[in-house]
Amino acid sequence: MEFSLIDRIRERTAQGRDDVRLGIGDDAALLAVPPGQELAVAIDTMIEGVHFPRGTAAADIGWKSLAVNLSDLAAMGATPAWALLALTLQNADVEFIDNFATGFAQLAKAYRLALVGGDTTRGALTVSVAVHGFVPPGKALTRAGAQIGDAVLVTGTLGDAAGGLRLVQQNGRGDAQSDYLIERLNRPTPRIAAGLALRERASACIDISDGLLADLGHICEISGVGADVDADLLPRSSALLDLFDDAVSREFALSGGDDYELCFTVPMRHVAAVQADLAKLGCGATRIGRIVEGDRIHVRDRDGQRLEQSRKGWDHFSA
Ligand code: ADP
Ligand code: MG
Repeated sequence: MEFSLIDRIRERTAQGRDDVRLGIGDDAALLAVPPGQELAVAIDTMIEGVHFPRGTAAADIGWKSLAVNLSDLAAMGATPAWALLALTLQNADVEFIDNFATGFAQLAKAYRLALVGGDTTRGALTVSVAVHGFVPPGKALTRAGAQIGDAVLVTGTLGDAAGGLRLVQQNGRGDAQSDYLIERLNRPTPRIAAGLALRERASACIDISDGLLADLGHICEISGVGADVDADLLPRSSALLDLFDDAVSREFALSGGDDYELCFTVPMRHVAAVQADLAKLGCGATRIGRIVEGDRIHVRDRDGQRLEQSRKGWDHFSA
């Protein structure tokens, strides 16, 4: 259905790849997985008003719908290759499609990712993207494997997207710092290169989509460990610190979603080398705590005062 819309998407996302034997246009795509590689696959759905605010620009929706999926591949240490796009639209809005495809393609081209097919239907604005990537057998990063004594690190800065969402809700745009935080919300950077660099060294890895505590909680649960987090070490951008007071920005950094940074654990002896590698990649990595016995995450501040909550259900936070 809607062949002209599909053609518009295909034109804008065109990407030559030898491993795409047959792309958009037939009943299924035909893809050649490189010999000796495992396929890492992930899918994420974004619904207007739930996963992005109503009024978000079409190009930003296109970028973000791919970015959140590439972030999942990053967390596995996989190299992106292909994507499928299931698009549900209220109407055949050509301008929306063109801008959506342009935002999607900006990010896709950066990774030579080919859009190889999808589905187009009518209904409330909903975008599902599935991505496929390669990883050498046995080399994928997973949520299991965090060991007692390992350091806990995160890439980039935390809480920016939550700050950006607050600003959008309050119509607080206009200055450079607000724009920066809103950009972090609408155009997250998937940490693909960081994920690849961590492949030989991280014991566990996850991307932060639901907030640091929730996602570190998944590592703890699956690895059968607990964690101590030092609230004073949480990396926060100068924009976040300037626009929100300390307690609010700390809560955003601990519990805010949508940052799409990586949270990972490494044996202490590898911390310095990992930090040097990720500094070269531009995102950096900050040590925020360590893995301990137990099944809870404890958050402490400078004075060692406990601000903790359990790994399941971070339902209140008072600094
Ligand atoms: P079918 O009915 O056989 O599933 P469709 O008419 O849904 O075929 O799709 C025709 C072709 O266009 C297929 O190759 C499909 O993968 C592709 N396609 C449909 N929608 C999209 C989309 N939103 N993005 C990319 N490719 C799409
Ligand atoms: Mg179809």
